[in-house]
Amino acid sequence: MRKKLVVGNWKMYGNSIENEQLLNSIVAGLTGLQIEQCAVCVPYPYLPSVQNKLNNTNISWGAQNVSQYQKGAYTGEVSTSMLNDFGCTFVIIGHSERRSLFGENNDIVAEKYVAAQGGKLTPILCVGETLEQRERGITEQIIQEQLMTIINKAGVESLSKAVVAYEPVWAIGTGKTAAPNQAQEVHTFIRNSIGTQDMTIAKELTILYGGSVKANNAAELFAMPDIDGGLIGGASLVADDFVAICNTLNN
Ligand code: PEP
Repeated sequence: MRKKLVVGNWKMYGNSIENEQLLNSIVAGLTGLQIEQCAVCVPYPYLPSVQNKLNNTNISWGAQNVSQYQKGAYTGEVSTSMLNDFGCTFVIIGHSERRSLFGENNDIVAEKYVAAQGGKLTPILCVGETLEQRERGITEQIIQEQLMTIINKAGVESLSKAVVAYEPVWAIGTGKTAAPNQAQEVHTFIRNSIGTQDMTIAKELTILYGGSVKANNAAELFAMPDIDGGLIGGASLVADDFVAICNTLNN
């Protein structure tokens, strides 16, 4: 049985006081979930306090990016072993904001994915098309290219230790959610495309949907047969909303 998962992406929001309140409410609200069904990916400086707070709870944590390099003169970068020091389980790789604002192309994303797995972190690999690409009818081609760069570099078997997040760029932070069947269509494409190389890995792969998931639309999205949970941005900063979205997995 493939795992269900909801991951919060805090992006560059929060401070010590707000985080403390948010985490207290999340921990209190998520007593019924299994370990590794719910996680938060937080800004680097807060990893020690998040680790302190979430240790011995059923909630995992991780980072939003990692260097492809192991160590060296890479000013401003953070390595996988540094994330290991703070007990991270997950790291988001190839988020569309990293791709569009920080120049991460498919090759860099693949290097980071390999580094994450080499460092015993579970990559949450983000793929997805822009509005312009969708309107041109090349959604599947774009996603295929994003996946194939990973498979060519790391092998299809690497996906047995990864999570994929389908995040249509036009739905991230815009309030425009993909309709459940629209998202399901792309999730099916992702699973089938990986299935042509390895059916068992494809069937077991956790594929999250991300893009304006809220407490009031999570249930219909997560009810789709190939949507195994969500990657949640804005709503992960509102405790009640995030708790409600996570608890949708139990329904
Ligand atoms: C995200 O940051 O990955 C995301 C999906 O954001 P939002 O939920 O705010 O659209």
